[in-house]
Amino acid sequence: LTEHKSDPVVVIGLGRFGTSLALELTRRGTEVLAIDNRPKITQALAGRITQIATADATDIEALRQLGVADFYQAVVAIGGDIEASILTTSLLVELEVNDIWAKAISIQHGRILDRIGAHHVVFPEHDMGERVAHLVSGRMLDYM
Ligand code: ATP
Repeated sequence: LTEHKSDPVVVIGLGRFGTSLALELTRRGTEVLAIDNRPKITQALAGRITQIATADATDIEALRQLGVADFYQAVVAIGGDIEASILTTSLLVELEVNDIWAKAISIQHGRILDRIGAHHVVFPEHDMGERVAHLVSGRMLDYM
């Protein structure tokens, strides 16, 4: 998410990952349209993100109405519901969103996201594990 830093970003799925991403982008001055189908989640975040909508992201009409097709970047942060993740990602491809990021929870899930046209597939748990390994080994080197 570096190339077009100031462009608005759509974040779909406001679990722990999607929520912290949407809040961090907001903190950095990026306009965010956040979407989740659970009203409890969207209500809890109202006012903290530029625009927040309660909608089913697997419904192409809902995405159209929210203007998702006009965004340059989108992040699919749905993990557990793999079917919803894949369907949502394929709709973003269909809407010709230029830069689609999608979160995968397994290698197989990541492969499918890649094949259907996600431009970037991220594995948050795995990536964070690697980062912590760097931190830990860096700290350990300090003591050697
Ligand atoms: P995390 O580990 O980041 O908390 P997770 O990997 O467990 O998340 P999920 O709980 O599957 O991910 O999904 C994250 C969010 O996506 C949830 O808040 C859920 O309501 C939302 N979500 C799931 N399906 C849809 C959908 N079809 N449309 C919109 N939002 C959805």
